[in-house]
Amino acid sequence: SIDFKWIRDNRDAVSDNIRSRNSAANLDLVLELYDQYLALQKVRRWQEVERLRAERNAVANKMKGKLDPSVRQALVEEGKNLKEALIGLEEDLVELTDKLQLEAQSIPNATHPDVPVGGEESSVVRKEVGSQRSFNFTIKDHLHLGKELDLFDFDAAAEVSGSKFYYLKNEAVLLEMALVNWAISEVYSIENSDQCLIGTAEIPVGGIHMDSILLESSLPLKYVAYSHCFRTEAGAAGAATSAAKSRASADESSSSMAKSISAARIELQDRALAASCEGTLAEAVYMGKKSLVRGLYRVHQFSKVEMFIFCRPEESDKWHEELITIEEDLYASLGLHFKTLDMATGDLGAPAYRKFDIEAWMPGLERYGEISSASNCTDYQSRRLGIRYRPTPSEPPPANAKKGKAAGGPTQFVHTLNATAVAVPRLIVCILENFQQDDGSIVIPEPLRPFMGGLEVLSPKS
Ligand code: AMP
Repeated sequence: SIDFKWIRDNRDAVSDNIRSRNSAANLDLVLELYDQYLALQKVRRWQEVERLRAERNAVANKMKGKLDPSVRQALVEEGKNLKEALIGLEEDLVELTDKLQLEAQSIPNATHPDVPVGGEESSVVRKEVGSQRSFNFTIKDHLHLGKELDLFDFDAAAEVSGSKFYYLKNEAVLLEMALVNWAISEVYSIENSDQCLIGTAEIPVGGIHMDSILLESSLPLKYVAYSHCFRTEAGAAGAATSAAKSRASADESSSSMAKSISAARIELQDRALAASCEGTLAEAVYMGKKSLVRGLYRVHQFSKVEMFIFCRPEESDKWHEELITIEEDLYASLGLHFKTLDMATGDLGAPAYRKFDIEAWMPGLERYGEISSASNCTDYQSRRLGIRYRPTPSEPPPANAKKGKAAGGPTQFVHTLNATAVAVPRLIVCILENFQQDDGSIVIPEPLRPFMGGLEVLSPKS
């Protein structure tokens, strides 16, 4: 349910937004198709009036008396022709509507006024926690550490599935489960209140409330979901140009979340494509120095605990702050050094109105790497998924209110937000590389120990 009238009435602002977000959306074409659509709708209405008139005349004629069979036949014929014309018109309308929707899907969400304008380099640091640990020994990256500790098998995974796949082994399996269980238990306990919080393995959680009208009193609805994520990562290992290309295709695709039963799969695919454009210019250049192609940093499949909120529009900024605070608390309690960034317009992807990324220090890879992302998508997803709520009236209905009429004002679209709690592989990279000791062992962060049977240190097998 894209608001085309609003888009047309705010043409300049929409056009500026498209430009600042580096989007490939074609606003002129969308508005041209919209005009055609309105015109066709008008014609259709006129045709319908004609048909009704013809029917009325026919009935009126009939009422007048005996009808000549040929007149009757002519009327029948006329009715038939009109019906066929109408069907043809309907088909045109459906075709045009599809075209319009498809084209309009590439128009990105509006942008929060505080979002910095520009490419990734214009993103602003909101917060910094901790500092880069200094080591008095020669450090190793997670690949070397994992090899010594017998935690991964990349060779077998390459044989079975190809590059960017992996097997986790031994304590790495425990570590994954610990991270997931810890994140879910933490997020549950933080939100241990009168509000609704449900764990689910579905992505996107957004699809759960597709085509529904929620009670205002049920908002915010908060979910935490654990699922596997599959990423194409098509452009990531290549040159900067292919990363840029994959960003464009991701933007097109990420805006194509359709109101359909397969929303979950579409979202998954969108996110896969969106992820594939994380390979930015800086990163592509960096790859010449230190390979991100091998190891756990960028893989095709991984597990993730995700938070998702449906809320009233006026509260989405507040919940966005709450989500980023939960993320910061989680990573600070693991003892990681990280920065929170307010991402610039060029790096938002179509659905986000505002996006905060967290980048943690990975000493073995000698870089900060994105470990999580929290987005306020305002009504971009709810419009496409048809998720509304009916505001509760501030006063009880008057005694003479019409019976059967739903109480409250007209329905409104909810706002949706999503945020990573734990994306497993990058946190494994962080834990191994940051908490390594000179004998090659790894100190397990305290909050994870209860989820690993009390294990405190991963030691190399002798
Ligand atoms: P996204 O859902 O695209 O916002 O990604 C959420 C988080 O998943 C990112 O912040 C990364 O920590 C992680 N992530 C994304 N893509 C990959 C990948 N290909 N391999 C490993 N982790 C990833």
